Amino acid sequence: MNVKHVLGISGGKDSAALAIYLKDRHPELDIEYYSCDTGKELDETYALVEKLNSYLGKKIKEVVAVKPKEETPYETTFDHFLAEYGGYLPSSTARWCTKKLKLEPFETYIGDDLTISYVGIRGDEEREGYISKKQNVQSIFPFRKNIWSEDVVRDTLNNRNISQIVSYYKKLSSENTNTEALKIANTPISLEFTLKQKLNTLLDINIKLFNNVVFEYLKTTDYPVGKLDEFPLIDNDDILVLEDIYRTLDDSGVGRPEYYNKKAYQVEIGGELKTGYYSRSRSGCFFCFYQQKIEWVWLYENHPELYLKAKEYEKEGYTWMEQETLEELSQPDRIKAIKKEHYTRTQRLSKKRKKTTWKDEIIEAEGMGCASCFI
Ligand code: SF4
Repeated sequence: MNVKHVLGISGGKDSAALAIYLKDRHPELDIEYYSCDTGKELDETYALVEKLNSYLGKKIKEVVAVKPKEETPYETTFDHFLAEYGGYLPSSTARWCTKKLKLEPFETYIGDDLTISYVGIRGDEEREGYISKKQNVQSIFPFRKNIWSEDVVRDTLNNRNISQIVSYYKKLSSENTNTEALKIANTPISLEFTLKQKLNTLLDINIKLFNNVVFEYLKTTDYPVGKLDEFPLIDNDDILVLEDIYRTLDDSGVGRPEYYNKKAYQVEIGGELKTGYYSRSRSGCFFCFYQQKIEWVWLYENHPELYLKAKEYEKEGYTWMEQETLEELSQPDRIKAIKKEHYTRTQRLSKKRKKTTWKDEIIEAEGMGCASCFI
């Protein structure tokens, strides 16, 4: 049966690294790469997409919700929908932008084709990626210890399937793992032994064996992976964390998205001039409301023309942040206060953890926000 393999390039480091990793490690997978361009990304994001195009040797398909026409008064797809929403700016509680500019175009693009969607959530992250509600789409997370989505795990390890799963373990496991794995596979999920515990124990015993068992089970379902004759990811137990992502990007020559590079800023604290470092923590629209205050300051000082454009969107009481306009945030005293707060916080964290906090800072910032835009 024909199953499509797709990978969304968000412009962030993790999806870029996943594309590189799968091309190098699993060239047998015929993957289509796509990008849902909002028309409001940073130039650094477009530069990364260009470099990836050359590395992958394939054009990354541009998936857009509405094609700008000559006669349309709207500059981009974002502006088109903003007008439809009457100027109501998106926010974390009214995130119409992700729905209209990312999720709906993706679902239109894949249509009714059976599709496996590869998602770059790393092995050191807790969050679950976007799971399409469409029955014909299955998400796979190659960087994680558990490559399967929550719904697949819940279904496979459901108590009603115990005898079926045990039979696959008997068929697929060696003498060594047999006893231990069978005991766990046979143990029902309960308040004392949760789904998460069962999953983690089975993965700890043998990741590849668990994946092969799930694959056998999926063959009895309508999940797209179950329609494949072979699926190489089930015999891959790599787990990739932040350092691996950077290494993959650097080794490939594609490099890290430019906006992650830390830049120095200076701020006076207690009569002394201190040097702090700031950068953008993720991809996405230049005006994204998930930005931290220090990232707005970074935008103001490093891309003043984009800051100005973001400011022009704030009208009739609509603002990107609660309780503060971009006009207010760009006042010299306010910028100084934000830098002071950022410098003091990073110093405190650095002392507490007795090591550099670059990794913690990134992971903390990634915790918020939208998997479709920032992976
Ligand atoms: S990057 Fe931010 S503003 Fe842009 S579509 Fe995603 S959530 Fe919305």
